[in-house]
Amino acid sequence: MKQLYKQSNARRDEDIPVSDTPPYSPKALKHPRNLPRSINYLLKEQRLLFILVGILIGSSFFILQPSLSRLSSTSSSADPRNPISSQSAESGLASHDPRELGQNYGNWDSGTNGYRPNGVGRVPVGIQGKRKRIVVTGGAGFVGSHLVDKLIARGDDVIVIDNFFTGRKENIVHLFGNPRFELIRHDVVEPILLEVDQIYHLACPASPVHYKYNPVKTIKTNVMGTLNMLGLAKRIGARFLLTSTSEVYGDPLEHPQKETYWGHVNPIGVRSCYDEGKRTAETLTMDYHRGDGVEVRIARIFNTYGPRMCLDDGRVVSNFVSQAIRKQPMSVYGDGKQTRSFQYVSDLVDGLVALMEGEHVGPFNLGNPGEFTMLELAEVVKETIDPSATIEFRPNTADDPHKRKPDITKAKEYLNWEPKISLREGLPRMVTDFRKRILNEDEGKGNK
Ligand code: NAD
Ligand code: UDP
Repeated sequence: MKQLYKQSNARRDEDIPVSDTPPYSPKALKHPRNLPRSINYLLKEQRLLFILVGILIGSSFFILQPSLSRLSSTSSSADPRNPISSQSAESGLASHDPRELGQNYGNWDSGTNGYRPNGVGRVPVGIQGKRKRIVVTGGAGFVGSHLVDKLIARGDDVIVIDNFFTGRKENIVHLFGNPRFELIRHDVVEPILLEVDQIYHLACPASPVHYKYNPVKTIKTNVMGTLNMLGLAKRIGARFLLTSTSEVYGDPLEHPQKETYWGHVNPIGVRSCYDEGKRTAETLTMDYHRGDGVEVRIARIFNTYGPRMCLDDGRVVSNFVSQAIRKQPMSVYGDGKQTRSFQYVSDLVDGLVALMEGEHVGPFNLGNPGEFTMLELAEVVKETIDPSATIEFRPNTADDPHKRKPDITKAKEYLNWEPKISLREGLPRMVTDFRKRILNEDEGKGNK
């Protein structure tokens, strides 16, 4: 009431004509009279004091907030029931052991072979800093599932997009229930909208048997799928990594293959859906980079093997290993003198992450330079699995490259990466996984 009374009085003051005022000019009169009024308003009833106290309280909250959160994390680590250790809170993640990681992000549940959330409140990603949100297309496949394991172990949030054409739930089932993991059944030829920091684009069948099964679909996956993922990267400002292939070199006339080699590819052959599809995917990737400023990375992957490959996907290592375990002759195509270089999957995954996190676009060859003829490979499989294993020659497929070996000088120099695991070291690790799955299959509970 008092205030209202004062306001009406003030208004009445304004209405009183002043004898020596200049001719009517609303603008000229308004400003000089309003300014003192506002100051007057602020000074009255200790309003200024209230404002100053408010500013003081607000700024002390923001100044003290980091030390308060540190205090609370220390006190929670002192609580023996709370599994978050102060060391991990301060130093980030040092360990890659899922059981140890479970202490930071949840409890390892041996029943489900995954993590159980520990009830700690979700920290907004923007505030926590280092933790990334990452999409892995084709994440239920052979390479993708190993990559996802590494990213989850590092502490990132991972979303897998997969249509399960060649991928299997068994490859990622151990992550179900982990709050950092999400799975979306989706075909990349259709657009999708997500908010992430990085996109690893792997979705595409890799075995010749699989990609020749529906060549038009393979082209669509490589072209439309890559377009969709690049479009997403552009829209949300994410970094994009394409898993291209040594197949872009075709049946190479240069040996070993450097990234500067443009290739020798049949554009109308049975492998073209894959080879030309990946070449177009590389073109799109570079055009989005040059034209739209999308941050991109290109990996040219050479033959990779390891646990979780499909048992019968037609690729040479999985074929030979399955055949030797099942006591069947190993199928050598052609004269068996064609060469390939075989890389263990963990080496590849390390290379992909180094590439994504590094500052160089590429393309980079990621492969093991150790070169084997198919007959030599059969010998190594024989030594590893069964000295009595036999081979059987079969006609080769069309357009089969005669030789292939990566020159990895560029990856060594710019990514500080090189493979660590030789074929003789890697093969036994894959054999353990294959034996188990083939045994399960024989008992009728397996899955390919
Ligand atoms: P993979 O077949 O095991 O995995 C591919 C995954 O992509 C599968 O989970 C499959 O279901 C999924 N996928 C396929 N088409 C899709 C689509 N349209 N939408 C959504 N998901 C789809 O193959 P991989 O060996 O893990 O290869 C992964 C990537 O690496 C591929 O891009 C491949 O071209 C590349 N690469 C692999 C090798 C190798 O030796 N493994 C060599 C060169 C390049
Ligand atoms: N190959 C073979 N026996 C098999 C499968 C493949 O001798 O059972 C040969 C094939 O002809 C090729 C090499 O192994 O020369 C590698 O074939 P894969 O399909 O594994 O990969 P890519 O041809 O894509 O390198």
